[in-house]
Amino acid sequence: MPATSIVRHIAKGSIFIHLVLLPLFVLAVTLFAQHKITDQFFDEAKHHAKLIAKRIELSWPEKKAISHMLDREVALTNIVYVYIANSQGKILAQSSFIPSHRHFQEDSFFDQHQDGIFDISIPMSIRDQDSLPTRLYVGFNEERTKRAIQNLRLNLTLFTLIYILIALAITLASARKISSPLNKLRVAIQKSSNTLPDDEIHTSSNLHEIRALAQEINIMRKDLVSQAQKLRHQATHDILTGLPNRALCMDRISQAMALCQRKRKHFVLMLLDLDQFKEINDTLGHKAGDTLLEVTASRLIRIVRKSDSVARLGGDEFAILLPTADASQAAIVAQKALKSIQKPFHFEDHTLHIHASIGAAMYPEHGKTVGELLHSADVAMYHAKRGGHGFIMHHRNLSSGAAGSLALVSDLEAAIEQEEVIPYFQPKLDIRSQTITGVEVLIRWRHHKRGLLFPDDFIPAAENSNIINRLTLYVIKKAIQQSVEWLRGGLEVSVAVNISAKNLQQPNFAATVLSLLEKHTLPSRLLEIELTESAVLNDPELAKQTLSRLSQQNVHISLDDFGAGNTSLAHFLELPLDTIKIDKSFVRDIFRNPNQQSIVHRIIELAHALNLSTTVEGVEDEKALQLLTQLDADAIQGYVLCKPLMAREFEMWVKQQGIYQIRSGAGTASLQ
Ligand code: C2E
Ligand code: CA
Ligand code: CA
Repeated sequence: MPATSIVRHIAKGSIFIHLVLLPLFVLAVTLFAQHKITDQFFDEAKHHAKLIAKRIELSWPEKKAISHMLDREVALTNIVYVYIANSQGKILAQSSFIPSHRHFQEDSFFDQHQDGIFDISIPMSIRDQDSLPTRLYVGFNEERTKRAIQNLRLNLTLFTLIYILIALAITLASARKISSPLNKLRVAIQKSSNTLPDDEIHTSSNLHEIRALAQEINIMRKDLVSQAQKLRHQATHDILTGLPNRALCMDRISQAMALCQRKRKHFVLMLLDLDQFKEINDTLGHKAGDTLLEVTASRLIRIVRKSDSVARLGGDEFAILLPTADASQAAIVAQKALKSIQKPFHFEDHTLHIHASIGAAMYPEHGKTVGELLHSADVAMYHAKRGGHGFIMHHRNLSSGAAGSLALVSDLEAAIEQEEVIPYFQPKLDIRSQTITGVEVLIRWRHHKRGLLFPDDFIPAAENSNIINRLTLYVIKKAIQQSVEWLRGGLEVSVAVNISAKNLQQPNFAATVLSLLEKHTLPSRLLEIELTESAVLNDPELAKQTLSRLSQQNVHISLDDFGAGNTSLAHFLELPLDTIKIDKSFVRDIFRNPNQQSIVHRIIELAHALNLSTTVEGVEDEKALQLLTQLDADAIQGYVLCKPLMAREFEMWVKQQGIYQIRSGAGTASLQ
């Protein structure tokens, strides 16, 4: 409530007391006093009249003396007239002055007939000559008493008025005493909205309550300011890690752009994504996931400079903005970031080894708007992740990845037709015999506009459309033709083709594959089908029928990426499997994480117990190969041998091999 209204409020209260209640009280007092005065007048008049009557009776019938006595009464007292009359109205004695024109009207109370005279009569004990009874008639002057009453009223009214004035003055003064410091406080509060939160509001009032109020306001103000700061922080920062959020990051990128545009400089934006975040979240729970994100945030902050920014864009995606870096500095920061994340991460009694992928883009080379730059960094990150490269700086030849994959699918049909889709081959080594027994076919799309596209760029979208059936049959045909060609050249390698869920749902899939084998005269044992867990789980019954038909004809069936999902081997016991391919994620951490070793060992043992062979994919170095040998894996595949190669490259690679055996059509021979 504003201070002036407080004054008004207090004044209203006191006006009610002083202007209404007090006059009423004074009126009551006046009436009471007036009553008392008139009563007294009445009593005294009666008494006086009786006294006169007594004295007349004593002097009766000395009329002269009586008249004299009556005159004295009129002269000396407040009696106006006095006379004695008999019952017939005949006057027997009287004072000299009698208001002759007046007709006697008895008053039974003060000022009854409002003629200024209080007229009373009392009976006398004496009788006149005719023995008639007599009465004494007396008129008392009422004026003096009336004046006294008026004076009383006037005095009391005056007193009331003076009282009201004084009371109002005091009320207003004390209301002012409250309102003026309150007003000052209000002005101070209004001003304080523009000052720093630490500037306190001061009051010079000596009223304890006002000082306490000011103090409370100061405390409240500090609270409000810190609340507002907190809210502002929350709007621009990630709650979990305290890092700037996506909105603030975008803002900083725009700022960096504006600055670099003016100074004609460049800057680098990096996107970092944790590789196993989802798995950790799914297996160890959200608390582990959250802790991992917090740890990642604090590690990243430690490796960048003060002028750089680290932000969390959402999920397990972080951004690092290096406003003054060039490509080589960015590479150094990226390596530092990757290294810091690779440090063991402890959660409860687990020790985990985390990897990350970083994609970077430079302004203005890789994007002139925030959106373009982010997209370029995203494409680079996507390639870094897929290739397991750790860090990639964007360059023109990187395909835009999954981003444009929907549009790509419409071109796929023509691409197959024009043989833009090319099979690459990655060898598999049988550990025990040290023999290259087969290859996996991994396709690449040599896009006429976008350059070389990897399966992850277009397979997921193709799988959502029927084109995947066409594509798979095309790859199978290419694989069979290649295998036949090699066989004719004395190189016996099986060809493994990746197939999708949709393929298994085609009722005539098995028949088509078998007829292709027959047409190209490839022994069916040299064809291998790699299928993922999800491909089977869609419709296990149909999958089982299709696979059984193929398996009966000796087509080799492998369960791909085993362990990457959450399903157990028990789900696949009904299927006619030959091999389990252990997912590459296991190998990546095999030296750092003893758990990983024992898991791989157990999968191998279990597979062997079920009469299945094991192939471990993603083996990148000799050390891992040695370890897998000890763990009794049957076969491996990975960069330790070579990256996926084109047919001619593969043949060259085979020829260059000194260590491994290959199978010739006739038997096993060493390649020299
Ligand atoms: P995948 O079947 O798990 O294939 C293995 C992937 O790991 C390949 O990626 C390969 O290049 C990569 N790789 C091989 N050795 C190593 C290694 O030592 N370290 C690491 N980090 N990676 C290694 P790519 O060629 O990009 O293929 C990706 C996925 O695309 C394949 O995963 C497969 O599921 C799918 N794919 C490839 N070709 C076809 C196809 O013709 N049809 C279908 N439906 N899917 C295909
Ligand atoms: Ca595969
Ligand atoms: Ca695989």
